[in-house]
Amino acid sequence: MEAKKIQIIGGELLTPDVPTIPFIAGDGIGPEIWGAAKRVFDEAVKKAYADKREVNWLPLSAGENAYLKTGEWLPDKTVEALKKYLVAIKGPLTTPVGHGHRSINVTLRQELDLFACFRPVKYYAGTPSPVRDPEKVNIAVFRENTEDIYAGIDFDSGSPAAGELLELLEKEGLASRVRFPKTSAFALKPVSSEGTKRLVNAAITYALEHEKQSVTLVHKGNIMKKTEGSFKKWGYEIAESFGNKVYTMARYEKTKKEDGEEAAQKQLKTAKQNGKVIVKDIIADNFFQQSLLNPEQFDVVATLNLNGDYISDALAAQVGGIGISPGANINYQTGQAIFEATHGTAPQFAGLNKLNPTSLILSGAMMFDYIGWKEAAELIEQAVAFAISHHYVTEDFAQKIPGAHELGTSEFADYIISKI
Ligand code: NAD
Repeated sequence: MEAKKIQIIGGELLTPDVPTIPFIAGDGIGPEIWGAAKRVFDEAVKKAYADKREVNWLPLSAGENAYLKTGEWLPDKTVEALKKYLVAIKGPLTTPVGHGHRSINVTLRQELDLFACFRPVKYYAGTPSPVRDPEKVNIAVFRENTEDIYAGIDFDSGSPAAGELLELLEKEGLASRVRFPKTSAFALKPVSSEGTKRLVNAAITYALEHEKQSVTLVHKGNIMKKTEGSFKKWGYEIAESFGNKVYTMARYEKTKKEDGEEAAQKQLKTAKQNGKVIVKDIIADNFFQQSLLNPEQFDVVATLNLNGDYISDALAAQVGGIGISPGANINYQTGQAIFEATHGTAPQFAGLNKLNPTSLILSGAMMFDYIGWKEAAELIEQAVAFAISHHYVTEDFAQKIPGAHELGTSEFADYIISKI
């Protein structure tokens, strides 16, 4: 069978029987977790579709390996291939340290306009957790991926640009808000209506497709009124475009003001009874508190870049940490997507065959789901769930589970394969 590209036509992803899917094995523990994960993927596809479907894996180079060979951390050829083949998967990459180097991950997200970082956080029975009821956590996080202070527009203290910015602030009558003007560095925080709306649109679409009860906009609009406050406003605006399928708390507030609280409560109750997705918002600090105290209040979260960074890792910690949490960076309009392990390269463990490949394995399951190979996705997820619930785990989990069967990275993959 001939390998072909995955394409998007009329907004729909078309996956051939033998798609070419690029992968970046990554740095540090990347190659060993990729080696383990790839064997799991191939077995799941074989089991689900016999000889009818197969992935043609295409290796791409990036990170330290690429730098040693080519002098480039992210070769143009790699970016071109990612664009060409639309859907890809990657292990962790070293962020080069030093002046002027941007994170490869951040660069990829911006170059490919992967505007949503999607991280479904849920609990697999048997996973060691620091909280009492981890099974209450089942939250899909949509983090905006291209804006906010991650735009990387920073000005050093004392630089000419910082001086010009101060002049502008003086003109605007805002200079007195800078406590120490002469020694202040500055960063810009772009947040746009397009960027917000496409992200919140993706989160609500996901909630509708997966029959979730609510979407929560998480922001610090009380402090950053023009940026995060607008995120909330634009979020509610795009939510209203879903018409009858959603009920927004913005509408609730309007009804409350015009017709009183009782009328608003009645509307909300009816909306819930009719299975509408409730779109609400919460201030970020309160979200952190509530997601620990009452995580069951949240199904889908849409938030800005920096909040999303903290939130995804904090939620992941409740259900076993970054060793198990999968993730993806997706542009839902172009179809372009990179699925990835959410942890880093853990260089001190490289080559030891010790750490947990589950984050990458579950990211692969998400990828198969995304390209429409749902059966393969389910087989992988079920086998992972079986292994963890029977305490066949890697060292990171085994240390916290008395009597666990501790397996190496590769042997863990063997065990999962035996349960597919
Ligand atoms: P890290 O995630 O690599 O490691 C932190 C700790 O988390 C490790 O010491 C280990 O105890 C644990 N851990 C990580 N992966 C694990 C796994 N699969 N199973 C079990 N435990 C695991 O973070 P770091 O040390 O801050 O960063 C190391 C490098 O990775 C840096 O260069 C950083 O820039 C890069 N990084 C890359 C990504 C990415 O590619 N998406 C993400 C984060 C960090």
